Amino acid sequence: MSFAYDRSGLSLPDAHYIGGAYVAGPAAIPVVSPSTGAAIGDIPCADADMVDQAVRSARKALASSNWGGMQPRDRTRALCAWADLMEAEAEMLAALEAICSSRPYAHVLTGDIVVTAEQIRFFAEFADKEGGALAPVSDNHFGYIADEPYGVIGAITPWNFPISMAGWKLGPALAAGNAVVLKPSEMTPYSTLFMAELAVRAGIPAGIFNVVLGDGPTTGTAITGHAGIDKVSFTGSTRAGGAIMENIARTGIKPMTLELGGKSPMVVFADADLDLATDCLDRGIMSNAGQACVSGSRMIVAQEVADALADKLTQRFARYRPADTFATEPGFSPIISETQLGRIDSIVQASAGQGAQMLCGGARFDCKGSYYQPTLIAGVDDTNPAVRDEIFGPVATFQTFTSEDEAMALASHATYGLCAGLFTRDLSRAMRLTRKLEAGTVWVNRYGRSRDHILPTTGWKSSGLGHDLGREAYHANRRKKSVLIDL
Ligand code: NAD
Repeated sequence: MSFAYDRSGLSLPDAHYIGGAYVAGPAAIPVVSPSTGAAIGDIPCADADMVDQAVRSARKALASSNWGGMQPRDRTRALCAWADLMEAEAEMLAALEAICSSRPYAHVLTGDIVVTAEQIRFFAEFADKEGGALAPVSDNHFGYIADEPYGVIGAITPWNFPISMAGWKLGPALAAGNAVVLKPSEMTPYSTLFMAELAVRAGIPAGIFNVVLGDGPTTGTAITGHAGIDKVSFTGSTRAGGAIMENIARTGIKPMTLELGGKSPMVVFADADLDLATDCLDRGIMSNAGQACVSGSRMIVAQEVADALADKLTQRFARYRPADTFATEPGFSPIISETQLGRIDSIVQASAGQGAQMLCGGARFDCKGSYYQPTLIAGVDDTNPAVRDEIFGPVATFQTFTSEDEAMALASHATYGLCAGLFTRDLSRAMRLTRKLEAGTVWVNRYGRSRDHILPTTGWKSSGLGHDLGREAYHANRRKKSVLIDL
């Protein structure tokens, strides 16, 4: 069993990938194309026994290959070969992503895969450059801090950027000498499976990277509660993050990294470059149709420039047209599922029901597939559901302010603290306010990540715990041991 792709169609293995081989299971969960609504396949749902098989396979591979204890440079070499192979097989990988997700094939081919390969190489280089430290204690004692891999990392990823999110977990976990059992979202399983097949083809020992398919309540819960998983690394909603914490508390405490939801503000001052701000606010919310944790879903704009900016944005938003994920010219992304589209619409309608004003959008596109119109909502305060709740769609609120203090009060969110954007030409103000913004990442006169892997992501408040990316992510996949020797 393997993937086949000849541009006329894809043959998809509806199976887990454990110990370097596809392992079939009964069809349980349908996978659907959000661009067309067409059924793509039916994947199995790993129960506790199947998860146990994957964990055992990972532990066996750690012991037989000495992945965590080998010359670190050998891990670097294997990971770089894997990154090279992902780029060599980019067409197939991009097709497997675009067939069931909201990601346009053309963007995955030239963006997500290229950046993910770069990130894997970036983390691979840490393997022989970061280590323990000496800690002299006294004349009679000698101490050092050993730095070791955890063992098996249980990773769980969302559907919005399947390759990128898997890369964020796998690069640092594997470079740090761990094995991984990863569960991708049940809606977007195929590109992650193929990444696992490519890892083995690149020389990463079979069993070091395993993929189990399934939903959160069955497979996800079996992973986070498994005694053979040494650490959990999760990206997804704050709701599921809370359920994972509860399960870990119930089944045996273990460390965890949680990258969760956001409701990020983009604050525009009157002295900002309005054309630049328009570009950034547009991309900040409409990229992947708002289905990004970092989406700037709350626009907070100085009263003096509010009308001009709202005009510029609504003109931009009117140009978006739904596009199939395989369209040659990438266009507006579909919403991942009809359920998610219904959720977006119900928050928008509830917002309108509380007196909000729709500056544009507010309904689905009248076309095949699951597409929602770019929507801008004004006349709201922090009790309105469109301001309060993470919508995860192409919907932003538009609020105005007349003073710096008011801008910062509006920017602060009761629940989330993932990212924030600040637009001003006043450097002193920018420096002052980056300290006031309650967010793990602050962008000034730009919005969004590019190839800045050295900067970690971290969620403040209920947006998360721990780090992905950066040197911090490498160390988050190693644990310390203090050793004291009596001389
Ligand atoms: P989700 O929480 O519904 O699902 C994410 C993953 O968790 C899926 O694989 C799902 O099957 C699994 N899952 C669900 N419930 C679980 C449980 N109880 N135990 C274990 N696993 C469980 O999220 P989603 O809808 O796939 O993704 C969107 C969410 O992800 C948004 O809230 C977004 O902000 C967040 N996200 C955050 C980041 C970040 O870096 N902070 C990045 C991307 C997405």
